[in-house]
Amino acid sequence: MADSSARTRPRRVTAPPVEWLVMTERASTEPSVFTRILRGEIPGEVVLSTDEVFVLQDIAPKAPLHLLVIPKTDAYRDVAELAEGDPKLLAHMVEVARTVATQAGYDSFRLVFNTGLGAGQTVFHVHAHVLGGDASEDTMTAGMAGEGRDA
Ligand code: AMP
Repeated sequence: MADSSARTRPRRVTAPPVEWLVMTERASTEPSVFTRILRGEIPGEVVLSTDEVFVLQDIAPKAPLHLLVIPKTDAYRDVAELAEGDPKLLAHMVEVARTVATQAGYDSFRLVFNTGLGAGQTVFHVHAHVLGGDASEDTMTAGMAGEGRDA
């Protein structure tokens, strides 16, 4: 008779290594939250739209002005990929960032591109944070993993 203990014995479950999780995230083909907002699948407060980008009110603002400038294409995961693949689109994002900041009354503003998990990036569809008013350094780094190593 076969020994069934191997089937009934509890198996030790270990968490996958971080690298495995990162690879899974990178391989994801799910539309990003921004693409879903653009498609009208989930709500979002879009304050401006051009042929190539749209501007979204951040759902959890870290400063009196906190907008996100987002390309309509989801082809680029972060600003480094975008700079390499379509520098004109990156320049357009910066131009739109200046426009919306100025329109909101902020001649001075901060432009933040969290790049990589270790820097606190949570949505892997490139976007620029446009921050106006009192935004301290730590507000934009609250999600940082600490080691700055994520691949
Ligand atoms: P990051 O952490 O740099 O990838 O930035 C992602 C940003 O997207 C965060 O500031 C979030 O608050 C913001 N965010 C996530 N989901 C939504 C949403 N549904 N509508 C607006 N902003 C969002």
